[in-house]
Amino acid sequence: MPRTAPEFRNFIDNAFVDGRSTYADLNPIDGSTVALVHEADERIVDAAVTAARAALNGAWGDWTAPERAALMRRVADLVEERFEEFVLAEIADTGKPRILAEPLDVTRAVVNFRTFADTLLSEGTPAFLTPQALNYVARKPLGVVAVIVPWNLPLLTLTWKAAPAIACGNAVIVKPSEETPATATLFAEVMRDAGAPAGVFNVVHGFGRDSAGQYLTEHPGIDAVTFTGSTATGSTIMRAVAPRVLPVSFELGGKNAALVFEDCDVDRAVAGLERSVFLNTGQVCLCTERVYVHRSIFDEVTEKLVARAEALRLGDPLDRSTTTGPLISQAHRAKVEAAVAGAISEGAQLLTGGGRPSLPAGLDADAGAWFAPTLWTGLDNSAVAMREEIFGPVAGLVPFDTEEEAVALANDTDYGLAASVWTENVDRAHRVAPQMRVGLSWINSWYARELRAPFGGAGRSGIGREGGGYSLDFYSTITNVSVAS
Ligand code: NAD
Repeated sequence: MPRTAPEFRNFIDNAFVDGRSTYADLNPIDGSTVALVHEADERIVDAAVTAARAALNGAWGDWTAPERAALMRRVADLVEERFEEFVLAEIADTGKPRILAEPLDVTRAVVNFRTFADTLLSEGTPAFLTPQALNYVARKPLGVVAVIVPWNLPLLTLTWKAAPAIACGNAVIVKPSEETPATATLFAEVMRDAGAPAGVFNVVHGFGRDSAGQYLTEHPGIDAVTFTGSTATGSTIMRAVAPRVLPVSFELGGKNAALVFEDCDVDRAVAGLERSVFLNTGQVCLCTERVYVHRSIFDEVTEKLVARAEALRLGDPLDRSTTTGPLISQAHRAKVEAAVAGAISEGAQLLTGGGRPSLPAGLDADAGAWFAPTLWTGLDNSAVAMREEIFGPVAGLVPFDTEEEAVALANDTDYGLAASVWTENVDRAHRVAPQMRVGLSWINSWYARELRAPFGGAGRSGIGREGGGYSLDFYSTITNVSVAS
């Protein structure tokens, strides 16, 4: 470890605070140490909650919507000014290629803050006038909001939740993933430098159980939890907040399907599948892990997708020709490897990948957390590998014969986050897409996001919707005021 490894501290009351101990933040490209991270203990989490409460009871509680929107725009400007620093921080933590970190993670952080500033100012107040009464809606902040986020899109997810929470006048305590503390720490500096009053934005570092995550969700002083992560952790958090009946917004796991019909534009569909299976090394909650293809084009789609998977360029994230990085950690790779071994033992026939890739000179797949883009066929929906989320660059391909069968196969899951439907037949597209039992159903695209549209999952994929006014609804307490005529 270099003697100069930086240290990432907790951020409370606009100041950086040492933790009870430190742990090493590792770079999954080669296993090197990125930084030492100060883990928050119960005392530090308690200080964060106290600071957040004091902010709400202080001047922040009186800031008007235009003042909060102006702060948010300054935040967006400062992230833009420090764009390269954020990009390098995200790359060091995740190993993701620059060509992803730039447009996906850091740009979206800027856009999240600008969009929710706009949403706040453009949002009208609903009113209902009858001869008997005028009813109108008053919004107030929820209070102290715990923001708990994962490692796959760290800054994007943090800002997706912190922006509307701050727009609504809350004070937030962010618990970034233990795997990706860097951009949250940098973002704390930005919030301070943009002029956020002390206590409005706090960061506590650490793990889940017996660490910052658990201490935060069990703290009696928080008023709501917004969480993105696995379904299992969502369930644990729900139990933690149940005694206090706190509002939760949960964006959880998925086992997302793509339906590829015989009347699709095959090349367009295969290009879309390549993105939806392999983007961010398959570590996007929306990624496709089940591909159902009409039998008449199954061989053609399979062959073309395999060719595209094998053409992906794994390598140095700073090289602009690199398309694909490693998994987040060796521990996560072990889970992906076990899942693929399980698929094979259930009868999967590998089409490509299945193990550690060969890499350009200077990179060692074993030292980092690399795993090759992997496709298989031969499993049906009864296989564990076709039911449980793997969260890696993997998918199983399955042929179908009829539209009804395809819809039934896609919906045969406990999850319900996203689906994509590939067809040039407009009637079929509009018939099938709404039948998907998911929160997001794309026709001839995948991960095309509109930030004002509702985002969230059905079934085990989540509770609630965020985006535009849906976010403002979650991050505020709504009081209906009724004035008699
Ligand atoms: P995870 O659930 O392990 O961790 C997420 C966060 O929760 C981390 O900050 C972690 O420290 C914290 N945490 C863990 N245990 C906790 C506890 N007991 N109490 C409080 N906090 C706790 O998820 P992950 O492995 O970081 O992320 C991958 C998962 O996230 C996948 O399942 C993926 O599908 C999901 N995800 C969902 C969406 C969505 O929008 N639906 C987006 C991205 C990722």
